[in-house]
Amino acid sequence: MMPLKSLKHLNTFSITAHAVDVISVDSVNILIEAFRNTKNLKLPFIFLGSGSNVLFLEDFLGVVLLNQIKGLSYTESETDWHLHVGAGENWHELVCYTLQHNILGLENLALIPGSVGAAPIQNIGAYGVEFDQICEYVDLLDPCTADCQRLSRKDCRFGYRDSIFKHYYKTCFVIAVGIKLKKCWVPKLDYGDLKKLDPFKVTAKEIFDFVCAIRRNKLPNPLLIGNAGSFFKNPQVDRDTAALMIKNYPDLVYYPQADGTVKLAAGWLIDQCHLKGYTIGGAAVHDRQALVLINKNHASSQDILDLARHVYQKVAFTFSVYLEPEVRFISAEGEINPMAVLS
Ligand SMILES: Cc1cc2nc3c(=O)[nH]c(=O)nc-3n(C[C@H](O)[C@H](O)[C@H](O)COP(=O)(O)OP(=O)(O)OC[C@H]3O[C@@H](n4cnc5c(N)ncnc54)[C@H](O)[C@@H]3O)c2cc1C
Repeated sequence: MMPLKSLKHLNTFSITAHAVDVISVDSVNILIEAFRNTKNLKLPFIFLGSGSNVLFLEDFLGVVLLNQIKGLSYTESETDWHLHVGAGENWHELVCYTLQHNILGLENLALIPGSVGAAPIQNIGAYGVEFDQICEYVDLLDPCTADCQRLSRKDCRFGYRDSIFKHYYKTCFVIAVGIKLKKCWVPKLDYGDLKKLDPFKVTAKEIFDFVCAIRRNKLPNPLLIGNAGSFFKNPQVDRDTAALMIKNYPDLVYYPQADGTVKLAAGWLIDQCHLKGYTIGGAAVHDRQALVLINKNHASSQDILDLARHVYQKVAFTFSVYLEPEVRFISAEGEINPMAVLS
């Protein structure tokens, strides 16, 4: 079957690619039915939210199941708010909704593109807060068996841009998430420029505005310039490697972790290789944020891939540090390990 359905508007990189079919899924029943049809046709499938963390390497010879399961409700206990949110809701709109209803705690995660259902997949995080910290549960559907199950926060095994969903449950669809926010709100101001705010006076709305302003200034808007946010994860190295690097590069930007490892700022490493603005074909390293690769001028996926490989090799050669993509790579048959095509 020919892949004729365009995916260009379904990925924030704005890469030209096609799929055999794209099915909008707005209920569990439609998901189960769409999955059965896909299986009967013996076609591969992928789940997609807003496409803000994927790179289509070529046409996808299968069916895209597009998450549009909506719904939002909340209850309260004496100490907490408990939100139940359909996976197809937009993350940033959820952040705005909670603020408007005086339910506080999501403000640091403002303006992260994408769907609510994708938030647990890579444990989204920004400005010192990760989804892990606010997750109560994740509801999953196995479309093969039509079984639903609820995973507790602990079951999700969240890590840095990682969760159980990247390793198991790969054929399961996140249909809803539960979020728990404390009524007794404490501002989270440990990260970067947020430290400038006064913890005794600041409001959640001010943090929201501050985060939005920084992000608008620093990150290219995917509606104007195709991109998928941070292309690479911040690499984590052991204490000894970090100590040696700090000695050799006193300006190194790094974040010590609770487990003794040290996270290095991938953007700093790329910047030190003088790659800001570097271009291959229509793809470029963003000139203000080295961690973001952009579709500057009708880039093909090959342009993005060649640029990513160049960045990977330069950083490896300069620092002996091996970057790993945060973005998910989709080939003709489905998702593939990005290291298989990068290194
Ligand atoms: C400008 C920009 C800034 C960004 N900033 C940040 C940031 O600060 N922090 C951060 O963590 N991320 C950031 N990202 C990355 C992105 O926003 C997140 O990864 C987001 O959660 C992706 O949501 P999505 O709906 O677009 O997922 P998609 O890109 O559609 O999918 C991502 C992966 O999740 C899977 N998936 C999606 N929905 C489901 C589902 N319902 N069930 C099962 N699997 C599913 C897909 O198969 C795919 O493998 C940024 C991206 C952009 C473009």
